[in-house]
Amino acid sequence: MKYPPIQNYINGQFVDASTDRSLAVISPIDGTLLSTVPLSTATDLDKAVTAAKAVFLVWSRTTIKERVQVFFLYKTLLEKNMSQLALLVQEENGKTYDEAVAEIEKGAELAEFACSLPQLVTGEILEVSRGVECRTEHVPLGVVASIVPFNFPSMVPNWTIPNAIALGNCMIIKPSEKVPLSVGRLAELLQEAGLPAGVFNIVQGDKEVVEAICDHPGIEAVSFVGSTKIAKAVYKRATGNYKRCLALGGAKNHLIVLPDAIPGMTAQNITASMAGCAGQRCMAASAMVAVGPVDHIIEKLCEEAQKMVPGKNLGAVINHESKERIERYITEAENQGAKILLDGRNPTVEGKEQGTYVGPTIIDYVTPDMAIAQEEIFGPVISIMRTNTVDEALAIENASPYGNAASVFTQNGGMARYVIDKASAGMVGVNVGVPVPREPFSFGGWNDSRFGVGDITGKSSIEFWTKLKKSTTKWNPEAGINWMS
Ligand code: NAD
Repeated sequence: MKYPPIQNYINGQFVDASTDRSLAVISPIDGTLLSTVPLSTATDLDKAVTAAKAVFLVWSRTTIKERVQVFFLYKTLLEKNMSQLALLVQEENGKTYDEAVAEIEKGAELAEFACSLPQLVTGEILEVSRGVECRTEHVPLGVVASIVPFNFPSMVPNWTIPNAIALGNCMIIKPSEKVPLSVGRLAELLQEAGLPAGVFNIVQGDKEVVEAICDHPGIEAVSFVGSTKIAKAVYKRATGNYKRCLALGGAKNHLIVLPDAIPGMTAQNITASMAGCAGQRCMAASAMVAVGPVDHIIEKLCEEAQKMVPGKNLGAVINHESKERIERYITEAENQGAKILLDGRNPTVEGKEQGTYVGPTIIDYVTPDMAIAQEEIFGPVISIMRTNTVDEALAIENASPYGNAASVFTQNGGMARYVIDKASAGMVGVNVGVPVPREPFSFGGWNDSRFGVGDITGKSSIEFWTKLKKSTTKWNPEAGINWMS
């Protein structure tokens, strides 16, 4: 085993969980046993909540200008430790080193945004009648929780950690049991940056910890990122316990390609979107809707996608179960009459035979009724559906229950605007394959890709991580009573 068994991180210390139950942590790259992760219990969670609660009074009473000093330092520490952090992400998740670096860089950008929060959370004040003032302040909630998925072991935790903590909350994070290592390293960097013990805690585990988070009376708010099925369950359970909850779910993202699109740029963007991070992005292109005569673009797409070589510039998918599931979808579509233009099933990756790789796969003449057209695949696979008009393409996009991202490739500005208006997705791209908004713009989908109100990053997160206090004060003794009293 490459690393010692993973522990929880509570009150500034790495500690054993109160259980012997654990899972192996296997690198998707080559099957190396990296470590074991404990399946913590409600008792472990309770210890973390107790520690977080104890320090909340002190942390929430420091000023936000003091609190963000931690994140100025944290950002520089992410940058200083970039290659080490990226190697860990690569090892446990299977993505390429360059993709892992991009993930850490995005974490630094998220920390940078948190440093701007003092400029954004200034309250409002107005003299509403002579000598009477109304004023608002953003007040932290208390102990909050963040439950995260496997596909971005470092970036998705950084969607929530800097903003929630800079805004004065104390946090408990539950990493994915498939990639439990990176968050431990983030805890060390936060400590080095000066975060007091207990403000940030990690409880490793699976369903049991997630359910305990939803049920614990000491936790005020729960953010979740993962698949739609679990997002719905978490949203229902957390709000059923009267907690604030924002749960981001899965996706099925459509790229609409029009005949006037620039072939080279379009093919490169679609390839990067479908195969980047081995297709394991909630923003990955999973369906291409080809409008009219676009065979010349599809040919270019096949040329570009062939340049993605598993084990070189195309990473592994998370595990054997995932690889088998992805390959099953491809075989089923083939059996139903779709045409495989590029087949990534069972690639040979020399020296990494125990790794879980799927090559880039392009499937043409998929019809909207096929499972591969409707469900999230989460692999480097794109299904092409053919239509004659943009409205037919939009009808396919709008029929999806998801609503994370959509893109259109065209040189016609009016048509691009039309798609932006009509697509039922929270994040839309024009000639952009992965339309992730950069900070300070916020991240969040619609429909079955997001349950709750607002987005998880950017200004929107201020509303989620704080509550508003409204105070009315009177400094005018002549006015005996206020207008409503
Ligand atoms: P997942 O839903 O399986 O797991 C997410 C978290 O929930 C993990 O921490 C996991 O331990 C926990 N969990 C798993 N099963 C559970 C259960 N039965 N009860 C309670 N908790 C449970 O997701 P994943 O496979 O880790 O991640 C991939 C999914 O995440 C994809 O669907 C992807 O689209 C989605 N995702 C969405 C976004 C977004 O912004 N919308 C971002 C990243 C990933």
